[in-house]
Amino acid sequence: MRLIPFVNLLFWSALALPACAGERPGEARIEDVKVYKGTFATVNSFIFSNGRELLVLDVQRKPDEARKLVEEIRRIGLPLRTVLISHGHTDHFTGMGVFRQEFPEARIVVANDDIKRDIKAYAVYMDSGGATGGEPALDPSIKPKSPEYPQGFDYEGNIKALGSNRLELPAGGTLELTTDYLPTEADYMTTVYSPDLNALFLSDLGYNKVHHWLGDDISWQDIANWRQELGRLKREYADRNPVVYPGHGDPADMSLFDESIRYLDDYTRVMKGATSREAAMREMIALYPDYKEANFFLKYSVENHVKEP
Ligand SMILES: [Zn+2]
Repeated sequence: MRLIPFVNLLFWSALALPACAGERPGEARIEDVKVYKGTFATVNSFIFSNGRELLVLDVQRKPDEARKLVEEIRRIGLPLRTVLISHGHTDHFTGMGVFRQEFPEARIVVANDDIKRDIKAYAVYMDSGGATGGEPALDPSIKPKSPEYPQGFDYEGNIKALGSNRLELPAGGTLELTTDYLPTEADYMTTVYSPDLNALFLSDLGYNKVHHWLGDDISWQDIANWRQELGRLKREYADRNPVVYPGHGDPADMSLFDESIRYLDDYTRVMKGATSREAAMREMIALYPDYKEANFFLKYSVENHVKEP
């Protein structure tokens, strides 16, 4: 009989750590994240690596941009095993169709059933002709599957709701998901924190030098909620001081929270005092001259909050 050296015992006990959902997490850590900056809507996707496999967070609005994101992922040369969608807006989930085709082995996950329902409901709404004028039509690759369109995207079968606030990468590394937000930019939102990177991914609670999306059915209460949640996030992460990655615009630091609160306060004041949509646009552009998406996000936000006969 041979004695197992102590160092080996340690190694094997590390491998035998309890696992979630029947899967044994490996010992790798998340060591890198790359930002893919979309052109349409200035929307970001994020590619996480633990050195053995990849996870992508959000997958773009336009199929050609989703394909560029696919190329970026293939260039890294590691298998993509997880696609995580943060919330039910088309600029974050449309690329799912391309990803289903290109990476049939990868699981598509969302934090919970509310987000899964939101995604499907938005796709059905877009497919039935409802859409913001600034958005392209729903891509055929994510047209909902139905008896009339059997080749469509199977939202029930293809998207798994985790129902957990921890997402383990198969080979190792954990992302912490937070979803207990009030209705803000969307009714249901996921933020993601990586302890390994000390990085916080705000999804659409975060905009950096991009006009915030306040169009469609976003109410004054949603805006007040959004402001409140930004304050809460700022307090909760103050000690850790992470790098902050917004859903739209460049990575930032913790000062993003104050900047965004100021934007929402200015927006509220300007819209409530506006005499016309044109005047409201002019005033916001004068206050935030270097912000992107004035002719898309700001335009439809103003249409939502400044009523004209
Ligand atoms: Zn967005």
